[in-house]
Amino acid sequence: MHKGELRADQAGQVKVVGRLAPSPTGRMHLGNIYACLAAWLGVRSQGPGGVLRLRIEDIDTPRVVKDADHWIMDDLAWLGLDWDGEVVYQSQRADAYTHALKLLESQQLVGGQPLIYPCFCSRADIRAASAPNEGDGFIVYPGTCRGLSPEVVSERMARGQRHSLRIAVPDQPDESDAICRFDDLIFGAQSFNLPRQVGDVVVRRSDGLVSYQLAVTVDDLAMGVNQIVRGRDLLRSTAIQIWIRNHLQPQAPRVQYAHLPLIDGADGRRMSKRFGSPDLGSLRRDGWSSRQVLGVCGWLLGLLDRPRPASAQELLDGFTWNTLAADCRDRQLDLSELNVSDAKPGL
Ligand code: GLU
Repeated sequence: MHKGELRADQAGQVKVVGRLAPSPTGRMHLGNIYACLAAWLGVRSQGPGGVLRLRIEDIDTPRVVKDADHWIMDDLAWLGLDWDGEVVYQSQRADAYTHALKLLESQQLVGGQPLIYPCFCSRADIRAASAPNEGDGFIVYPGTCRGLSPEVVSERMARGQRHSLRIAVPDQPDESDAICRFDDLIFGAQSFNLPRQVGDVVVRRSDGLVSYQLAVTVDDLAMGVNQIVRGRDLLRSTAIQIWIRNHLQPQAPRVQYAHLPLIDGADGRRMSKRFGSPDLGSLRRDGWSSRQVLGVCGWLLGLLDRPRPASAQELLDGFTWNTLAADCRDRQLDLSELNVSDAKPGL
C-alpha cells in the first residue's frame, strides 16, 4: 500500500468518509469555509462512493452560541456544500465518551503507569512549571501529577479537590512507541515525539466536560471517518489523537490527513471568530454571492489562479491536493484588495 492510501473493501473499493466539524461558537468566517470546502472537495472528488458527515462540535458548552448550529447549516446550504446522513451533535454523545474513558482507565503504559491519571494542577501551576511553548499555544504538560502516590491522590480526592484527567504518553523520548508518525497529504511525513512535543493531555476537564481531543477521537472512530481535513494548527493534536485512537481501537482502519495552511487576515492575525474576521453574516449582508465566497476559498486552496466566482461543482473539476502540497505556506487575505469578478484583471 502506498503512503496515505486507504484500505480497500473486499470489492477493491475505497470509500472515503470525511467530515465537516464546525464549532457552533459563532458564524463561520472565511477560514472555516475554506476548511469546509476542502473537506467537501476531498470527498466529492471521489465520485458517488464518498460520504461526508456533519458533526456539530458543541462539547465546549460555555463557548456555544445559541442558534449558531442553524446558521452554520444554512450557510453550508447557501454555499452548496452538502453532507450525508444525520447531523451528529457532540453534546448528545456523553455516553459514548464515558464508555471510552472507562476503556482508557482500564489500561496501563508498559512500565505499569496508569494510562489515565488525575491532575490537580491549575493553569497557573502548569504555566509556571513549563518550558516556553512553540508559539501555537500548546503547552507540554510538565508531568507534575503523574507520579503522585495513590495515598496523596486518595487524600486529595477525599477533600474534593478539583481535578482534570490526563492521558499519559511514554515518558522516555527514546521508547519505541514515543514517536508518532503519520503522512499528511499536504505537509508530507510527520513525526512527533510524544513526551517532548505533546505531553500528557487532558481528556476530561476539571469542569467535568470531555476534552476536544477525546471527543473528536471517539467520534471519528464511531463515524468511520477515514479522511480528516483541518488547519495545520492541529498537526500536533493529530499525534495525540492517534495515540488515543490506538488505545481505543488498535485495529481501526487508517486515516488520511490533510492539514491546511492557515489564513491570516489583513492585520496579519489568524482568521478567527474572536477577532471579528469577515464572516458569512457580514459578507451576505454586503451582497457577496456564494460563487464569490467559494471563488476566494478555491483560490486560497490553489485551485484558481485568481479569486473569481466559482461554484463548488466547478471547483471539483481537476481537484487535487497537490497544488496545496506544492505551496503550503500560510496565506494572507485582504478582502479590501480583492476584486472577485469574472472580468480578467486589468480589463
Ligand atoms: N471543531 C474544530 C473547529 O471548528 C475542528 C476540529 C477538527 O477538525 O478536529 O476548528
